[in-house]
Amino acid sequence: MTDAPLKLFNSLTRSLEVFEPVHAGEARVYSCGPTVYNYPHIGNMRAYVFADVLGRTLSWKGYKLTHVINITDVGHLTDDADAGEDKMEKMAAEKAQSIWDIAEHYKQAYWADVKALNIRQPAQWTIATDYVPQMIEFARGIADKHCYELDSGLYFDVSTVVDYGRLARAQTEDGEGRIEAVEGKRNAADFAIWRKTPPGESRQMEWDSPWGRGAPGWHLECSVMSGEVLGFPFDIHTGGIDHREIHHPNEIAQNQAHCCTNGLDDARNSGARIWMHNNFLVERSGKMSKSSGEFLRLQLLTDRGYHPLAYRLMCLQAHYRSELEFSWEGLGAALTRLKRMVGFVAPLVETNADTCKWIKERGDALVQSTRAANDVYFRRALDRFDAALSDDLNTAVALTVFDETIKTKSLAEPARLQLAAAMDAVLGLGLLNLTRVDLRIRPKSATITEAEIEAALVRRKEARAAKDFAASDAIRDELGQQGVEVMDGDPLGWEWKLA
Ligand code: AMP
Ligand code: ZN
Repeated sequence: MTDAPLKLFNSLTRSLEVFEPVHAGEARVYSCGPTVYNYPHIGNMRAYVFADVLGRTLSWKGYKLTHVINITDVGHLTDDADAGEDKMEKMAAEKAQSIWDIAEHYKQAYWADVKALNIRQPAQWTIATDYVPQMIEFARGIADKHCYELDSGLYFDVSTVVDYGRLARAQTEDGEGRIEAVEGKRNAADFAIWRKTPPGESRQMEWDSPWGRGAPGWHLECSVMSGEVLGFPFDIHTGGIDHREIHHPNEIAQNQAHCCTNGLDDARNSGARIWMHNNFLVERSGKMSKSSGEFLRLQLLTDRGYHPLAYRLMCLQAHYRSELEFSWEGLGAALTRLKRMVGFVAPLVETNADTCKWIKERGDALVQSTRAANDVYFRRALDRFDAALSDDLNTAVALTVFDETIKTKSLAEPARLQLAAAMDAVLGLGLLNLTRVDLRIRPKSATITEAEIEAALVRRKEARAAKDFAASDAIRDELGQQGVEVMDGDPLGWEWKLA
């Protein structure tokens, strides 16, 4: 097949660039992970669906992927510009629990969402508090040339690196939108790399350092964990678009200082060659804000009867660089599309057991062996799919190719199934394992169980077979009163849904 060059949008240069790995045949990717002080909202999860699709695409292209996602369990303040409280400390105080317990609980909750959305496990989850000695070492290395001490901590002087803020396109002096929250800072954009515990106070999480007892700054964490595990420079650094403005410019400044001090590269070494950012999922009524009581968590979608993978599909339908507006109608449409996909794939799975076995045995090798096949139709579908992904991860177009492929009459069933499996290795919808029953989730508010619904439908079928239409209608009305709509003649073959 013709392999299109993989073009990715680099926020650093604000342009599409052909991916050239730092190490031949490999792709090393670091994604800013969650701060585990609360449940992630579905907007946060969009960032990981995006990073997952990027990783799966790199695997599709044949690169050996090393993906790292961090877990921030210390240091992230309520305001990205050195103001406010530590998010973890604040939640621990509110809940009267230890920070360690808070971190563990929300890390597990995040991992549950990762699993539900078929986000592949990265090679490594780096936990910030496991890297504090390395952070102190990193800070010590750049302190003399690039930092200064104030009563509140050790600060990075952004005027000591070349071109600070070029990622955000911000000005160094009086950077727009910056609040000078700390007295004594030399430049408005300077930031803490070590925060000292104020005299007379103690924090639940604090460590000794050359600058006194305290905790690392949030930006320092990502510089250290990415550099330690992947080595500078690595290929791609990802995060949500908000990170393009403060967090990532600060990481870059530290990386430049570190690389320069250690003679690794010139002063412009930004740590990663490509910086990629997903745009936001927005919701107009404020339901995404974690401070608004009930907010949009993945669990809420499931409670309302929407399968988590309908949300994954909703993300894939939009380009990762476009804003995506959340609505229940939009999610419902994604669920219907997912049902339709399952409607095509599930029968193929049922009637082609040998091919399924063969696909399973191939495991990770399936994609490459499928891409090496030379049947003409096969090739055409694969080339179109590959071209879409290679165009800065155009998953919306890739999905269209997928939809056409699973329906086409031009290919025998085993071939269609093989193509579906290979493409799904990138889409990550797990379509070979999904059944119609999986997608029919009962909302939490429903008063009737699935077994009761199925039993009522069996009785109704018997009544209809006996031409007892009065009984059949009565069963339908009874179900209707319990919020179950019987869907006679549904083109997708769904027998009922919850109204
Ligand atoms: P946090 O836990 O706040 O550090 O955020 C985790 C990730 O979610 C980061 O990459 C953020 O940039 C990203 N993010 C936050 N809000 C949204 C949103 N509404 N849509 C998409 N990504 C988001
Ligand atoms: Zn980060």
